[in-house]
Amino acid sequence: MTGRDPIKDLAHLRHEFGEHGGVNMSVEASTTFTVLDPATMPDLFLGRAGPDKGCYLYGRHFNPTVYNFGRQMAALAGTEAAYCAASGMGAISAVALCLCNAGDEIVASHTVYGGTYALLHDFLPAKCGIRTRFVDITDTDAVAAAIGAKTRFVFTESVSNPTLRLANLPKLSEIAHARGVQLVVDNTFAPLILSPAALGADVVVHSITKFISGASDIIAGAICGTSELIEALMDLHTGPLMLLGPTMDPHVAATISLRLPHLPLRMTAHSERALALATRLQGRGLDVCYPGLEEHPDHELFTELHCPEYGYGGVFTIDLGDETAANAVMANLQNEQRFGYMAVSLGYFDTLMSCSGSSTSSEMTDDDKQAAGISPGLVRVSIGYTGTLEQRWEQLQAALDAVYS
Ligand code: PLP
Repeated sequence: MTGRDPIKDLAHLRHEFGEHGGVNMSVEASTTFTVLDPATMPDLFLGRAGPDKGCYLYGRHFNPTVYNFGRQMAALAGTEAAYCAASGMGAISAVALCLCNAGDEIVASHTVYGGTYALLHDFLPAKCGIRTRFVDITDTDAVAAAIGAKTRFVFTESVSNPTLRLANLPKLSEIAHARGVQLVVDNTFAPLILSPAALGADVVVHSITKFISGASDIIAGAICGTSELIEALMDLHTGPLMLLGPTMDPHVAATISLRLPHLPLRMTAHSERALALATRLQGRGLDVCYPGLEEHPDHELFTELHCPEYGYGGVFTIDLGDETAANAVMANLQNEQRFGYMAVSLGYFDTLMSCSGSSTSSEMTDDDKQAAGISPGLVRVSIGYTGTLEQRWEQLQAALDAVYS
């Protein structure tokens, strides 16, 4: 079995031409929309007329450009519908608030991006009375045991940040659905590589900010799922996208839309470079974690579930033992070798490196970091595809030689 290839669905999608026949869709910059017939206005407010019928109300509700980009994200994710948000966190929090009411519960992976962890661990219980039980998502018995009468959904990253463990999505969806709860998957680390909806997820969220954008210049997110979910997110009385307002700007939608056609080329380039460097670093005796390496605990499952064209992803980690060594290697790579940048985030065309425990996972308690396997010397490396492979390998070796000689 090989994973679904989303580019077929993307290529099959109806093309949106610009207003004057331009090959690219127009940017609808208006925040408000006229109606020809006054009777349409109440219909819009009552949900009887909407974007599926070409009727628009107000920019915080649906915008035509964002709606069209949403259709592209739905094709990419393989879901019935999708809509976008101003950030990945805007997308994740809107989904949580849409699926849960006060008193409900979430079962979540104990290894998720620090912002998501803080949302689930601190924000939602304090502000909304929604509690999360954290579990080791690779222990599917523990997931089943954690689901209770109040659980509304199971949340996991397809590939965990930063430990790069793969969630067994077919098994998790089976467990969740048997208990009548939904499976929500953050696929930020693996667009195209994994298709969570085809593997059983009900909702797929993305931080577009990362690989889908690819240039570290835009913050954006997407929610992919059923049309019913998208309507609920936009409900005028209870919809978190409509009422909390994490709205995607139409210019952003148009810009990212122009980057989707080369996402497959970029993902392949990231993955090829990451596999080559991870293999060589492992050969040098370093403690490298990359799903493309046979030694990775989920290598076989990953091979079974992914779309092989796009490899195993653009991120690997190296455990350098302690933070001092990690900082020395990163500083040398950035300041002496010009190999990449000491910066958070991922999916940039150049390499980004950060020490997860003290940066993007610092919101986690020390106990939770330990349980997740995030040690102080763990460096997350989002591998770029600039320069040549041999040039980058020489730079990596030079930095390691400088610190360890
Ligand atoms: N999900 C994952 C896996 C992430 O790594 C991040 C950010 O690093 C987010 C969600 C949040 O995305 P954004 O920064 O676009 O809000």
